[in-house]
Amino acid sequence: MTNHVTIVGAGPAGSMLSILLARQGLSVSMYESRPDMRTTDIGAGRSINLALATRGIEALAEVGVMSEVERILIPMMGRLIHDETGRTSMQPYGSRPHEYINSVSRTALTSILLDAAEATGQVDIHFDMRCRGVDFDGGTLRFIDSTSGDESRVPFTTIFGTDGSASPVREALLEVNGGNVDIEPLTHGYKELTMPADSKGGFQIEKEALHIWPRRDFMLIALPDLVGTFTVTLFLANEGPIDSFEHLTSDGEVLGFFEKHFADFAPLVPDLANQFTDHPHGRLATVRTTGWAHADRAVVLGDASHGVVPFHGQGMNAAFESCIVLDGCMRNNPNDWATAFAKFEQDRKPDTDAIADMAVANYVEMSSSVVDEHYQLKRAVALELDHLWPEQFTPRYAMVMFNTIPYAEVQRRAILQGEVLDRLTEGLTDIDEVDWVTAEEMVVGLDFNQVSKKGA
Ligand SMILES: Cc1cc2nc3c(=O)[nH]c(=O)nc-3n(C[C@H](O)[C@H](O)[C@H](O)COP(=O)(O)OP(=O)(O)OC[C@H]3O[C@@H](n4cnc5c(N)ncnc54)[C@H](O)[C@@H]3O)c2cc1C
Repeated sequence: MTNHVTIVGAGPAGSMLSILLARQGLSVSMYESRPDMRTTDIGAGRSINLALATRGIEALAEVGVMSEVERILIPMMGRLIHDETGRTSMQPYGSRPHEYINSVSRTALTSILLDAAEATGQVDIHFDMRCRGVDFDGGTLRFIDSTSGDESRVPFTTIFGTDGSASPVREALLEVNGGNVDIEPLTHGYKELTMPADSKGGFQIEKEALHIWPRRDFMLIALPDLVGTFTVTLFLANEGPIDSFEHLTSDGEVLGFFEKHFADFAPLVPDLANQFTDHPHGRLATVRTTGWAHADRAVVLGDASHGVVPFHGQGMNAAFESCIVLDGCMRNNPNDWATAFAKFEQDRKPDTDAIADMAVANYVEMSSSVVDEHYQLKRAVALELDHLWPEQFTPRYAMVMFNTIPYAEVQRRAILQGEVLDRLTEGLTDIDEVDWVTAEEMVVGLDFNQVSKKGA
């Protein structure tokens, strides 16, 4: 086997993978289209901060960086819901001390991984190098240097494509392996805004929460940053006659929209209209791929093979988990990477397909269900069932965010548990009306016939 490999894309997945590959004793060349984010202010790219949960944390611990990462995390204990009248209510994410998620800066987290990669002494990183294509027959990658404009060809033996949802490595791979990519655009896009710190540098709204202004067809969310600001994201239809990005073209329309739907939020961002005009309108899509690998020559992972919409806060967490799964497949087949890569797709694709579905479904939960009284009753009952029969029942959100149960298994369990919750709460308005004897029969009768629960 070769002991030199090439990674294209030094985002979260590439930077984590480079450490794992170095630990296998490989020497790694990693190419990244953008400048070095540790020395150049390049903006965070797609989202300034992210929710980090158990799957991501376990992977970060595995590569030995969690003690540093912990210093840049802000815990978010639950969803803080802002209704149309400005009233707020807190919905805790779970009932156990470890059941919270964390806000983390994308730049700071990736920088820690890049430092750790370089500290192995086996990873050299080439910034400003945009991959333009792969020649599998000739064994070369084509790059353009974004500072000089020079084109070059770089020989490779094995490529790891972690170059994001528009991956050129994936495109080249699918041409030679006959695989397929399905990119399913969402009708909604997003725009990020910054809520400034208050005059003393503190947070203007509750710090340790993920804030949501759910308005059914659109919503605003806000995650805290270490410096007292919040990164706010508006999710809104791309097109449509009213309440769409297409429709919000003038300062007056923007301010009118925010004052009408987010009256408590609008005054907290004095330069709202300017930010709205200046900041890009991002598009969202689910990426599903078949054919993740070409023999032992190339494999794609992270958003390049399985991009999800951000409504479950899992894209990066899933990408990190994929790195660990791929590393395991390679370690189990050290002399046969073709088998390792094929096994990786076979084992992992059902899970990444499942989180893709659950991420789309979670939009409805975040933007509408959280203010629905029956949803809140079901949620309260779910938490109680988890409390009473923790071995049998775990709320879906907790299975995704605070466990490492494979996503496909989570999806299967969630369907069965959903049926239990529907039946137990049918026609009820209060948790005191629940028939707990029937509840026990139903919950104990749940047969998952599968992996045991694993707490965070
Ligand atoms: C608005 C929004 C909010 C999100 N929130 C969350 C969240 O809360 N939690 C979560 O877990 N996930 C979240 N995600 C998803 C998360 O951002 C992605 O899943 C994650 O970044 C995937 O990592 P990656 O390394 O696979 O891809 P990317 O982050 O896209 O990294 C790819 C890297 O490759 C580089 N690259 C691209 N093309 C080339 C090329 N041709 N040549 C060389 N280099 C190239 C890029 O510059 C980049 O550095 C969110 C996404 C969005 C859009």
